Amino acid sequence: MALKSTADKGIQTLSIHAGEDPDPATGASAPSLVMSSTFVVDEEISFSAHNLDAETPFVYTRWDNPTTQQLEHKLAILEQTEACIAFASGMAASAAVMLAHLSQGDHLIISNTNYPGTAEFARETLTRLGIEVSPIDTTDLQAIAGAMRDNTRMLWLETPSNPLLRIADIRAASDIARGQNCLLVVDSTFASPIATRPMSLGADLVVHSLTKYIGGHGDAMGGAVCGRKALLGPLRGEALVHYGGVISPFNAWLIMRGMATLPLRMRCHQQNALELARFLQDHDKIERVFYPGLESHPQHDLARAQMDNFSGMLSFRCRDPKALAQRMMQHLEVIHYAVSLGHHRSLIYLMQTEDLISSSYRLDGDELDKYRDSAGDGLFRFSVGLEDSADLIRDLEQVLA
Ligand SMILES: *Cc1c(COP(=O)(O)O)cnc(C)c1O
Repeated sequence: MALKSTADKGIQTLSIHAGEDPDPATGASAPSLVMSSTFVVDEEISFSAHNLDAETPFVYTRWDNPTTQQLEHKLAILEQTEACIAFASGMAASAAVMLAHLSQGDHLIISNTNYPGTAEFARETLTRLGIEVSPIDTTDLQAIAGAMRDNTRMLWLETPSNPLLRIADIRAASDIARGQNCLLVVDSTFASPIATRPMSLGADLVVHSLTKYIGGHGDAMGGAVCGRKALLGPLRGEALVHYGGVISPFNAWLIMRGMATLPLRMRCHQQNALELARFLQDHDKIERVFYPGLESHPQHDLARAQMDNFSGMLSFRCRDPKALAQRMMQHLEVIHYAVSLGHHRSLIYLMQTEDLISSSYRLDGDELDKYRDSAGDGLFRFSVGLEDSADLIRDLEQVLA
């Protein structure tokens, strides 16, 4: 029993069955967890990562592992592409893509409000290695076109973005990058493969933090890069085998188990987020709500065109956010005041504007005004979970009262 074809199957079937054929040795229906770090071989295998290919048997878990491979197959199929490499975290995946595909003298374009870890890595580590980095508003197509140079080798998009939920137009950005020998990489963590398949819109590589929606339960860290074999083959040798940010097979197994319910969870995340966004929008203490599924979102039409699901991430703004954050820490009953996102549990966190602009973000002049204009002193980033929406609304009502 195994899927004969994946092309004719729906997303719920694929989330459950893709990559997870029954174990040929035992008939086990659920994936086996293979924790072994080494494998007995019956032929001479080269010690070099350069000789690693699809025919190489399992040798050592930093190269490849049967449980991890099942997760990688499932992710590649959900992202509608050929291959995937799993990493120890989203940051391990992002750093690997940048280090393996950029060299001294190359130029990278990235959002000026990108996920802080990636933004700081690009600005601090890559520039130290002689790579030029231009942080711009990647939702502005003219800004992307204007930032392209002869040596631009990578355009990095994150959509929806953190914490303003800005949407980058993947198809239009790929039209700009194409023909310039510039790789288009999309961090699709906030969208998940249920909402957006960037490869079908012209991306070259898709990056995920599996720690978020894909794993979905807040108990396993992981990351992944998906794309065509020609780009991922060299990445496995250099980034996985040599940088060594390999995922634990146990985490791969947990994340695969989480993925079985990804389409169902995303549907519920979206439904709850829309209800909470409407509740917040109507609340007199709330100044502004950002959610791609609301008609008031400045890019609602683009979100509708590019996303099959608006996901469960929203952010909102109110007067004196620090005082509200204090009340949340003391009085929230259901929602956890904590970083991270995409879990079954609701998580909320204040992203203070001063903190972000003095550390992670590079914003000046008009761009800084634009950010302050939207975010004020700070935005609460709310990862709406799978609890009963009425309980989430009551929890917020009592801290807003
Ligand atoms: C969390 C996150 C990352 C980093 O992933 P980790 O698994 O925490 O290393 C990268 N990009 C986005 C958009 C994220 O939300």
